[in-house]
Amino acid sequence: MTLTIDNDHLLQGDNVVHLIASKNSKPFKSKFPDTLVVHFTAGRSAESSARFLQRPDVKASAHLVIGRGGEIYQLVPFNIIAWHAGESSYAGRSKFNQYSIGIELDNAGALEKAGSDYVSWFGKKYIDSDVIKAVHRNEKKPRYWHLYTERQLEVNEVVTELLLKKYNISQILGHEEISPGRKVDPGPAFPLDRFRRLMFGDNRAGEMAAKPSLPKSGTVIPPKLNIRQGAGISFARVAKPLPAGQKVIILEEENGWYRVKTKIEGWVSKGNILTD
Ligand SMILES: [Zn+2]
Repeated sequence: MTLTIDNDHLLQGDNVVHLIASKNSKPFKSKFPDTLVVHFTAGRSAESSARFLQRPDVKASAHLVIGRGGEIYQLVPFNIIAWHAGESSYAGRSKFNQYSIGIELDNAGALEKAGSDYVSWFGKKYIDSDVIKAVHRNEKKPRYWHLYTERQLEVNEVVTELLLKKYNISQILGHEEISPGRKVDPGPAFPLDRFRRLMFGDNRAGEMAAKPSLPKSGTVIPPKLNIRQGAGISFARVAKPLPAGQKVIILEEENGWYRVKTKIEGWVSKGNILTD
């Protein structure tokens, strides 16, 4: 996949469609954008979400919508402010539209279980393999979330690398982090912490860069290890304890706990995991 950003701040490449929204025309002030905000569309398809966000009567937009097959719709040139963040604040700044590029990923968001299927807010059904049960970083109880596709996450990485090279981007945030309580996107199905580490590496300025790198996997040490809904013993257990020798994938770390994945996902006290 070859993608470039041209002098008009438009992404160019085979899988890019331009649906420029005429409602957005205000350029960023100098030194901005410095932030990238990740969203999910909570929509039916990338194209339907892109066409919706392009509409002149809709008071929302984003720079890009990335589809589940890796297709990309650009709605706003990267030097122009889009309307994706809304009421938002983080680290002493508010109203993040003026600071940030917004990328929407086609994803149905939170799902409700209905028999053996899962249903989105707009009534579309999803099968088990498209869904994870996980606890959102702003919530306490697990819910069902539509998974992102590998291709989609890959394209998002390639696009983000390009944006980091071309613009002065020093942090990546989820909409759920700048509008907590109001927004839950991109949600726990999106590997936000891993994505930040991947994009900023160890040598780049970035919010996550100062943290030591997280081990990728490990093995349960004690005979029974409680796996919980959050990083602490006050959180309820999500399943039976994990047995000694159980291999786990480590997703993130918080306050001495790892969020790990086996067939299920949850938090375990990190001292009980022998890391690889
Ligand atoms: Zn959002």
